[in-house]
Amino acid sequence: MQANIIPLSFEYPVSATQAGRLLKLQRDILEKVALGINYQQILDDLCKAAESMVEGAVASVMVFDASGEFLTVLAAPSIPSKAIAALNGLIPGEQAGSCGTAVYSGKAQFVINTKTDRRWCNLQKIVTDFGVGACWSHPVKIEQDKAIGSFALSSFEERTPSVFYKQLLETGAHIVGIIIKRQQEEQALWDLAHYDALTGLANRTLFNERFASTLKNALTNEQHLALLMLDLDGFKDINDTQGHDIGDLVLQQVADNVQRVLGVVEVFARLGGDEFVVLLCYSGDKAVVAQLAEKIVSLFQQKINVAGCAFALSTSIGVSLFPEDGQSTQVLLRNADTAMYAAKKSGRNCARFYSADLTRTVRERMELIADMRLALLKQEFVLHYQPQYCQLSNALVGIEALVRWQHPEKGLIPPNIFIPVAEDSGFIKELGLWVFTEACRQCLQWWASGIPHFSLAINLSVKQLNAANIQQFQSVLEGLDFPIQWLELEVTESLVMQQGSLDELKKLEALGIRIAMDDFGTGHSSLAQLKHLPISKLKIDRSFVQDLSTDVSDRVIAKSIIAMGHSLGLKIVAEGVETKVQQDYLVQHGCDIIQGYLLSQPLSPAQFVELFFGD
Ligand SMILES: [Mg+2]
Repeated sequence: MQANIIPLSFEYPVSATQAGRLLKLQRDILEKVALGINYQQILDDLCKAAESMVEGAVASVMVFDASGEFLTVLAAPSIPSKAIAALNGLIPGEQAGSCGTAVYSGKAQFVINTKTDRRWCNLQKIVTDFGVGACWSHPVKIEQDKAIGSFALSSFEERTPSVFYKQLLETGAHIVGIIIKRQQEEQALWDLAHYDALTGLANRTLFNERFASTLKNALTNEQHLALLMLDLDGFKDINDTQGHDIGDLVLQQVADNVQRVLGVVEVFARLGGDEFVVLLCYSGDKAVVAQLAEKIVSLFQQKINVAGCAFALSTSIGVSLFPEDGQSTQVLLRNADTAMYAAKKSGRNCARFYSADLTRTVRERMELIADMRLALLKQEFVLHYQPQYCQLSNALVGIEALVRWQHPEKGLIPPNIFIPVAEDSGFIKELGLWVFTEACRQCLQWWASGIPHFSLAINLSVKQLNAANIQQFQSVLEGLDFPIQWLELEVTESLVMQQGSLDELKKLEALGIRIAMDDFGTGHSSLAQLKHLPISKLKIDRSFVQDLSTDVSDRVIAKSIIAMGHSLGLKIVAEGVETKVQQDYLVQHGCDIIQGYLLSQPLSPAQFVELFFGD
């Protein structure tokens, strides 16, 4: 790195003796720089040396702060802290005292009387509070025409600077410039050695340093640490097929995206290639770490747009925890790495905790999420269809598509086990889209085979009711050329009552999709609210149907739901009808459609076809 320091001009005609004193000052200070003494100490020494040459004056160094807008005091060993606080935040300008004006104009300012000089007119409080009489300031420059700060001498009385004092200021400012330049270069070298040039994240060296110091603190203060090791799945393909330039842009995008969801962590680093690590202190509640890991995994559901192309990527994350999974950086890193490979092995696109001491629930939940993602790829999800019959004609008028998970080892997993986890982890978006597409495709196939049309009801989760999903549904419907009048979406009462749902429901209605309110009676919707909702059906919750033969109040509720729904022009469906008594009661009170085991259990596609084409 080059040191382009503007040469000292010796602008003021000082005597040979005076020049000698200044050169000695310069030599003494620069010797300290060469010896590697701490810069703050050197700047303080410079101020004190200048003060020793000008009786009754105090020296100060001001520089721009990180914003580049405000000046802040960098060194002023003889100035009281209250005065320093008053000076900090000075904005350079034409009337910004001696220092602010020197920085602004790039020229030395010799203010002889601060009370009368217009350059000090805005700083009269400082004049009064601290008794400043005169202030002479020289700009500090490390490049021509650009002042980065000032070196100043202030006195408590009105005072004119001698030629020697003026030269002392110029010399002092010159030395400050050298020191700051040197400091900046050292910082740049340090940054180069500690930050990853591609992403701007900490590199392996800085990560190791931070990890060691954080761990030391954690040991002393009994803190909990989590180490997350991320490896991108399939990144090599991008590099191989698109070239390293595109690969680099993808890595930058990934780093930015992950950084955004992280919040405050101890360190987020790129260790090299497509390997990243996150180290954070946490409360000890592992669920928080699990949530963060899931959040990072689900970030990758969005494709990464780079140079006009969209890349689908995913990440596998391994997590190790301090203190339970290791007490040293090496062991924690190794265990996080082991967990990361376990994540890769179990199908990628998921997070795994190092398993030694993990609570069962967290581990099972993470495994369930990982398994679900894999299950979708392996086509383990299946749809069953439960018929709905018109009570007047006894004809099949609709079916409700119900998702099941045919697990190769655990058997058929009911939706109440995996849907809540799918909702929490964001996986519901992918699963929901599959259910939607598959159900539509299946019905089209049936209708094409000669089965008469019926309405297809698909359940919609709270997490699916958003613009992006609705857009996807629309694309599926258009792509399949599905007759929209046969489609019905079932939404739960609580979902409908949520803030913001109404607009999305109206969008669905505008597309021509009918909405049925599922599980009705369990939520808190009022008749007045129902009137304003874009729904065409109410499904009486199975809990009321169940006890119709024994519970009087359930009978009253069911009866009133039917009457109320009809008065609003809605069709009424009863689900969970299992006995003839239940059916008779519902039919007697005008319920339009019946669904339940009494008439038919949910059917596999093959069983459903048999209904029409069997003997
Ligand atoms: Mg339903």
